[in-house]
Amino acid sequence: MVTIAKRSRPDARTQALSLAGKIDERLDAAMLLGELAGTAKVLLDLARISTVTSSGIQAFCRLVEGLVRGGASEIVLLRVASPIAFQVAICPGIFDPARVESAQLPFVCGTCGEERDHVVPYVAGADRSHPPACACGATMELDGMAAQYLPT
Ligand SMILES: [Zn+2]
Repeated sequence: MVTIAKRSRPDARTQALSLAGKIDERLDAAMLLGELAGTAKVLLDLARISTVTSSGIQAFCRLVEGLVRGGASEIVLLRVASPIAFQVAICPGIFDPARVESAQLPFVCGTCGEERDHVVPYVAGADRSHPPACACGATMELDGMAAQYLPT
């Protein structure tokens, strides 16, 4: 299940929640909506989400709908973990009107084999325009195909 790993209030109209764990049918939308009641701008950091089930996707969509009904005018998904990026790549716009701003994706070094998660902007080609540098000096590559995780 999903827990709130961290909460902050960047400004008077904005609340930021960092969610961790597995998004499944137990996602407690009512609890999260209570936390975020009356917030105009909602930032959800999803870097620590480990898994998303199909019923979790539906529950998350209901959360987004609930936020909109509650008056949120801007919902931003930050650092979406690869399971979420994967779902959005399969079904673009699935979380509309929430906007994906960045994704935390797996990268691998072709020279030394080092693996690391790295945050890139959620734009086409971000794996090539914003790759991390490996400690060995080489440029790391996305571990997988860009179309699996990023807009095309
Ligand atoms: Zn390396």
